[in-house]
Amino acid sequence: MRGEIASADAMIVYSHGKGHGHCGWGGAIKNIAMGNYTCKTRGAIHALIDTEFDWNEELCTHCYLCRDNCPAGAISFNEQDKLGINMHHCRYCMHCVRACPQETIKINQEGIRQFQTGMARVTKACLETFEQNRVLYINHVTNVTPFCDCWGFSSPSIVPDVGIFASTDIVAIEQASIDSIKTENYIQGSLPHPLVVRDDVEGHLLHKIHSKDPYLQVEETANAGLGSREYELKEIE
Ligand code: SF4
Ligand code: SF4
Repeated sequence: MRGEIASADAMIVYSHGKGHGHCGWGGAIKNIAMGNYTCKTRGAIHALIDTEFDWNEELCTHCYLCRDNCPAGAISFNEQDKLGINMHHCRYCMHCVRACPQETIKINQEGIRQFQTGMARVTKACLETFEQNRVLYINHVTNVTPFCDCWGFSSPSIVPDVGIFASTDIVAIEQASIDSIKTENYIQGSLPHPLVVRDDVEGHLLHKIHSKDPYLQVEETANAGLGSREYELKEIE
């Protein structure tokens, strides 16, 4: 954990709520789990999502049908002709699995939960260094873009601005923020290529866009005892 955080008496977690290619939603949990830790820990957490695909190199004939049939541009081959899948971009459509004549690719979605469990665990470790009620969370659910702000570009909002949430409960504010982004409010044409809202995926709008359930991190953080998924909204004009 970063030294400034470890020695702080109190913390305000100020987050822009938006979509995220690795975990569906990027808000307070993501901010703490990634922003308050060193590159080494962040890398270890990201590596958890990479455990979910398997490629049998010996059977591969390098026909590249998998790469050419990937709608997300997630598959590449390096100079040694080894296959790599960018799990940030992957939508779990399984086109590559079905396109492969050698049946060499296997993908499961367990890595998504492992990644989000990792985020919940380091979030807990960070929050345990603060006394009770010494952390305030503020989530801006405005300019909700599909991708994280750490990319070097932005894109139009995918839903109209909702507002600003504040709470001392990280689980409740994340649950309320994600709940406020409704599929029916999706602004047609706002997604950059090649993202789409998938009709064949059930659930939240961000789940339909990234094929990663944004609520998993909330569930895992609640399981870690960091707050309640039940909340009451008090609106202030
Ligand atoms: S599952 Fe779909 S999005 Fe993911 S790598 Fe395969 S073809 Fe691409
Ligand atoms: S489709 Fe299968 S055989 Fe062809 S390059 Fe991809 S993994 Fe290899």
